[in-house]
Amino acid sequence: MKEIKRIGVLTSGGDAPGMNAAVRAVTRLALYKGIEVMGIYNGYQGLIEDNVKPLHERDVSFIINRGGTMLYSARSNDFRTKEGRAKAVENCRKHGIDGIVTIGGDGTFRGAVELTNDGVPCIGIPATIDNDIASTEATIGFDTAMNTVVDLVDKLRDTSESHSRCTVVEGMGREAGDIALQTSIALGAVTAVIREIPTDFDHVIEKMVAARKGGKRNFIIITCEGMGKDYGEELSAMIEARSGIESRFARLAHIQRGGAPTLRDRVLATQMGCAAVENLISGQMKQVMCLRGNNIVAMDIFDALTVDKLMKGKLKPEEEDKIPPNKLYEMKRIVADKQAYKNYLNYIIDHITL
Ligand code: ATP
Repeated sequence: MKEIKRIGVLTSGGDAPGMNAAVRAVTRLALYKGIEVMGIYNGYQGLIEDNVKPLHERDVSFIINRGGTMLYSARSNDFRTKEGRAKAVENCRKHGIDGIVTIGGDGTFRGAVELTNDGVPCIGIPATIDNDIASTEATIGFDTAMNTVVDLVDKLRDTSESHSRCTVVEGMGREAGDIALQTSIALGAVTAVIREIPTDFDHVIEKMVAARKGGKRNFIIITCEGMGKDYGEELSAMIEARSGIESRFARLAHIQRGGAPTLRDRVLATQMGCAAVENLISGQMKQVMCLRGNNIVAMDIFDALTVDKLMKGKLKPEEEDKIPPNKLYEMKRIVADKQAYKNYLNYIIDHITL
């Protein structure tokens, strides 16, 4: 095993509050352990274009509190090609980079697997506001995004109350409805409309009409972008037509991606950043850092991506057949736990709102 003397760190894919806290933790712990750190700017594209500079202790000062990412992010199509990755590997060799901590979502991890296979060991830290990495209980940025949604929708609810309206809100979440589900509880929403759980609209409309008769003025419904491009607007129109309650639509969009990370995201990012460095220097690679209970555990990236596919119902039978039964059992257990938790949250929303 080659001794790790210098590592790189990059952020890639959609940005998430807390990415900076992770970059800081990676940098500071590596330096503490006598390992040099190279900051790779603009994700994988920056590695191809040799946008690489050393990071010292003070370069990561006063960023733990900042949203966005000081290393910037990019989506790189060049990196999906063999030629692009060859250039990236060449630049790693030039700078003496022995391993890379990649911070991002599932696409970033697929890139990390490719780069490891090309000879540069990589490790992944899950940072994406959607919480759509099934192998971890939480991704970096998820908590902050939810708090932003709560703050914004509290404001919408004020005006819904004044004008006696329903507001249908579309939050982020392409592959996972976690933001919609959890914020629905915190906001007293009537229902969360997400892909993972079918909604009984007859029941929702019935509840709304009954509550209106009982004097309720404001109604909030939270959905997510994964339901489709014009879904929220159509849902709002349908609610108004069927319930007779005036309804407006609001899309929160990218405002959910910015802002100072919450305490929880700063702590999670710091824990994951430190664990990633420890693992990388002890020779682990192709792993994703995952939160389970209060622990950070490592999972093989390929397995983590397989769990994602299982969660999204995208794992093909022939792929499933190739997984050893004990591993498949563990993966199915993770997915079943996640789904059961979502069902439980949905049950709470259904039974205590109105
Ligand atoms: P988010 O889910 O928050 O959008 P992400 O990491 O999934 O984050 P992507 O745009 O899917 O975002 O991936 C980030 C980058 O990772 C891509 O722009 C590309 O450079 C690289 N990447 C993704 N998939 C692959 C792949 N199969 N092979 C090589 N590189 C990849």
